Amino acid sequence: MGANGLKTTQDLITGLVHHPYEPPAGFGAVMPGVHKASTVTFPNTAAMRSRSWKSKQGYTYGLHGTPTTFTLEERIAALEGGRFCALAPSGLGAIVMTNIALLKQGDELLLPSNVYGPSREMARTLLTDWGITHRFYDPLAAASLAAAIGERTKLVWLEAPGSVTMEFPDLRGLIAAARARGVLTALDNTWGAGLAFRAFELADGLGVDLVMQALTKYPSGGADVLMGSVVCNDEALHHRILQAHMRLGIGVAANDAELVLRSLPTIALRYRAQDAAARTLAAFLAQQPAIKRLLHPAFDGSPGHAFWRESCGAAAGLFSVLLDPGLPIERVDAFIDALRLFRIGYSWGGPVSLAVPYDLRLIRDDAAGALQGPLVRFSVGLEAVGDLQADLAQALRQLD
Ligand SMILES: *Cc1c(COP(=O)(O)O)cnc(C)c1O
Repeated sequence: MGANGLKTTQDLITGLVHHPYEPPAGFGAVMPGVHKASTVTFPNTAAMRSRSWKSKQGYTYGLHGTPTTFTLEERIAALEGGRFCALAPSGLGAIVMTNIALLKQGDELLLPSNVYGPSREMARTLLTDWGITHRFYDPLAAASLAAAIGERTKLVWLEAPGSVTMEFPDLRGLIAAARARGVLTALDNTWGAGLAFRAFELADGLGVDLVMQALTKYPSGGADVLMGSVVCNDEALHHRILQAHMRLGIGVAANDAELVLRSLPTIALRYRAQDAAARTLAAFLAQQPAIKRLLHPAFDGSPGHAFWRESCGAAAGLFSVLLDPGLPIERVDAFIDALRLFRIGYSWGGPVSLAVPYDLRLIRDDAAGALQGPLVRFSVGLEAVGDLQADLAQALRQLD
């Protein structure tokens, strides 16, 4: 016995540490196991010297991947139709990792005018501080991108559609314009989720170079995990992303990877159900006198609808409405506060429906061009659509 009354023979403690457990290779479970590690061990020093963190043929350290994260990477790559995937701890982390991997001092980055807000803020703050400039282009006009590309342009971000104002871009025209000048394209594919269109193969031989996704949204589907991915087809490009991943010291926890792996088999069912419910509710709202304009790419009259038709049949369960520009903001807030099933919160793709008010003057440099008035964005969850419609109908009385 030791001084504290614990039995401390070396055999017991050593035996607890050096347990004989091996992951069960012949265990025919439907779902993959969850493997956790900071340290991974090597059978000998030669193995330690020969393995590289760049290769997924072997394991080197928990931060560089485990069987659980490698499995998720393979599945996300398959979902996007690409070959290589790197995971990041959030969707925004995946955007940052891509920017840091591909841009250096003196380079210029091009962003769509309706780009995801935090991506724009990264360009405005950190990238600017590091001597990386940025410019905006109109995602509905490929000529606007062609005109913006200069000698220093190294990366063009695309987003289909913009996640607040919902303009669906001229994807083919934009990719062709970037490719004509040899500039890399990266798509934020969170809305498409790998299901609405094939980002690497939009038309004969025409596709983006990198596809980023906030796995936080549809792949998770639970409103309880943050994660992001960057997929590409070119191995050298993947290694540039991995290099940034490695140098930033970012990793994804196995339990979070497990949650996304568990949700992936239902992603297509959820996407389809949320698409159908969102179209029902969008059509209902479009008929209400208080709603001045519907912004949903699958609806005629929504910006970029023709481009959506060219590439997609499906849509995410996400749309926005514009209200009367003269409406006091208190009335808009009263409408949102009156909603009972729609909760107030960011993000989308989860089980609970959400509503968020946006002030276009604060989120766009071009004051949203043709779009005017208070905007409310709806993310449709998995509730019965009749209940959601009744919820909207009762809250709309605040706008009478
Ligand atoms: C949510 C979102 C992100 C960021 O994802 P997080 O995991 O929340 O950081 C990026 N782009 C789009 C379009 C998103 O909707």
